[in-house]
Amino acid sequence: MLELQGIPVSPGVAIASALVLDADGYRIPRCIVPASDVDGEFARLHVAVDVVSEQLEQSRLETTAQAGRQTGDIFAAQLQMLHDPRLHSELEKRIGDDRQSAAFAVSAVLHNYATALRKLENPLLADRAQDVLDIERQLLTQLGAVTRQPLADLTEPVIVLSRMLTPSETASLDRRFVKGFCTEIGGAGGHTAIVAKGLEIPAVVGIGEFLPIIAGADRVIVDGDRGRLIIDPDDETIAHYEERAEYRRSLAAKLAKQSQLPAETLDGTRIALNANIEFPHETAACLARGADGIGLYRTEFLYLSSDEEPSEEDHYQAYAEVIKQMEGRPVVIRTLDLGADKMGRGKLAHQENNPFLGLRSIRLSLRNLDLFRPQLRAVLRAAVLGDVRVMFPLVTTLGELRQARMLLNVVAEDLADSDIPYRSDLPVGMMVEVPAAVMMLDHFAREVDFFSIGTNDLAQYTLAVDRSNEYVADLYQSSDPAVLRLIQASIDISDANQIPISVCGEMSSNPARALLLLGMGVRNLSVPPSALPRVKKAIRNVSIEQCQAIAERVRKLESARDVDLYLLDRLAELAPELVMQ
Ligand code: PEP
Ligand code: MG
Repeated sequence: MLELQGIPVSPGVAIASALVLDADGYRIPRCIVPASDVDGEFARLHVAVDVVSEQLEQSRLETTAQAGRQTGDIFAAQLQMLHDPRLHSELEKRIGDDRQSAAFAVSAVLHNYATALRKLENPLLADRAQDVLDIERQLLTQLGAVTRQPLADLTEPVIVLSRMLTPSETASLDRRFVKGFCTEIGGAGGHTAIVAKGLEIPAVVGIGEFLPIIAGADRVIVDGDRGRLIIDPDDETIAHYEERAEYRRSLAAKLAKQSQLPAETLDGTRIALNANIEFPHETAACLARGADGIGLYRTEFLYLSSDEEPSEEDHYQAYAEVIKQMEGRPVVIRTLDLGADKMGRGKLAHQENNPFLGLRSIRLSLRNLDLFRPQLRAVLRAAVLGDVRVMFPLVTTLGELRQARMLLNVVAEDLADSDIPYRSDLPVGMMVEVPAAVMMLDHFAREVDFFSIGTNDLAQYTLAVDRSNEYVADLYQSSDPAVLRLIQASIDISDANQIPISVCGEMSSNPARALLLLGMGVRNLSVPPSALPRVKKAIRNVSIEQCQAIAERVRKLESARDVDLYLLDRLAELAPELVMQ
């Protein structure tokens, strides 16, 4: 058994077989064969080595003829590696003594070689590492062990272990079979993490390099609450986790019974408890869990989950589906927040040195009007179907807000000219997620109908910490006192200007932090659907006075750690069921 620690990003526990993907997303095969198959595995290996050897020799001859001896020598070096006696004695030991399949042995040995070469940090040897992996890929192909789209054709429950998953790869995971995932890179605030929460798949990211050392893993546990990956757990550990999973199931069943009760504190203060969604199909779960509305619809996932650029009609259909299902409850549609870790395809794909400080979000939309216009038309048209509001992300300057509003007006006029029905008094809001916007919030307050604080980005830009970077994940805390001061300032300014304000960043999905936000004056929270039951339970267990006392105490604390420890203590007193043993 081996236990690895990473960053917990999506709660829950899962126990299943490991599906190990290598750095390029290829499946690494599993692993031990019956004693009776050992001879067969040897035979398969020898055939594979012979075929690859012939192919390499062929490539060497052709490349030498076309590009000269020096280039052809690349393949000569690969041939030499392929016939290295040390390689063969290691493979023989693994297959003969350890009963590993030929494919598994090839993958494990060659990955170990490549890692050892890379560790030497010499650019020439790093290139050799690539050659080693090339040979691995060719041998695995001959052994029939390479699956190019291992996530597309699953037939049994698995936990995916991989170097990384992009937000769109995460979005396309098949929930019937993918019970959890763990990645080497990534941070708590990245959109991969957010999508995992949306899909309710337990996930741990930012574990650091672990794939080479777990190549033999069969069964694994993902502990998305505490950020652990347990490889080949013993019986006692499995029993412990099964008990935890059972506790979660029974708590969920209990909370489900309260789903249609209002999010109201003990003193009768009604809190608007809304849901964040990425896809229309999530609306059903929001309603089942008693969401008061959709507080954040991340529309950019329409781009990320399809190869085609969505048309105005695609936008309209998606929005209409959500709005109709919500039956008059508020729906806040956020305009495209592409860029940074949510890269589009085709003309939108671009490389930047600091993408989180670059062309993302409203900036990208304002520079790509042929992208932005159809979306705004679709929002205006769909808005006649219910209580819809539009919200612009990452607004930093008043100029950006004014440009976006102007475009909205122009698009509305076009619709009017063409006699297409649309909502002319669509409420317009903005996200508060850049410190500059907080500093100017009194000015913004004169030009918008509502604010929503995006704590994910506000923490990133206040603390100068990339939200998806595992190296600085410990510094990325929305409960940092500096972030809390900006949140408090935003609440105070919006109250003074009588502009409604909500919090839709992940901070509000943590019940303890949600209570702090109530104490700071927030009366509108938006959380992932999976968090609705727990946050509602926390709200219903407290009075506003208790929350205010919490906020009062927190104002005196000096670090995120102190804040979170104190909040957890208070939650344990006020809503003990929510604090797992
Ligand atoms: C945020 O930044 O807090 C937010 C809600 O937006 P996103 O996570 O999509 O950037
Ligand atoms: Mg944001």
